Amino acid sequence: MPEDSQKSGCCAPDGGSGEKRLGWREYFMSVAHLISRRATCTRGHIGAVIVRDNNILSTGYNGAPSGLPHCNETNCRIYRSVHPDGTVEENCVNTIHAEINAIAQAAKHGVSIKDADIYITASPCIHCLKVLINVGIRNIYYDKPYKIEHISELLRLSGIKLVRVHVENI
Ligand SMILES: [Zn+2]
Ligand SMILES: [Zn+2]
Repeated sequence: MPEDSQKSGCCAPDGGSGEKRLGWREYFMSVAHLISRRATCTRGHIGAVIVRDNNILSTGYNGAPSGLPHCNETNCRIYRSVHPDGTVEENCVNTIHAEINAIAQAAKHGVSIKDADIYITASPCIHCLKVLINVGIRNIYYDKPYKIEHISELLRLSGIKLVRVHVENI
């Protein structure tokens, strides 16, 4: 048997691919990115994964409520709102955000998500953050920053942690 037989092929520590094994955080964030590809709101594709003890409890992506027309079949319906700092926000009235859909899926199936973490492909809006606090999420891992200045005070007051996990090539 060749001397380097343990270093290549399926039995090698890296599966023979030469690639470094994914860490848990990168693994769950990669799953969140994959899930975002099911999103239907044309304004943005977001995925979310709720995790505890390295197990996936629930997932969600942004889109219309079940059975209703999705934005990619009709059109986004945009509404504008003004944040207290004066910045104008635009959101789609058809769409449930990915993290709320993940919470809804857990509720529908009776899965407790207390003390879990959530991985989201973008940092949460202030409305979703309020709900994440109340369902007992401990850590929020996000990839792309989205108006973090709007949630900084709520993060500080709540003690919930927001940590960036960036993954490439998804
Ligand atoms: Zn939309
Ligand atoms: Zn949101």
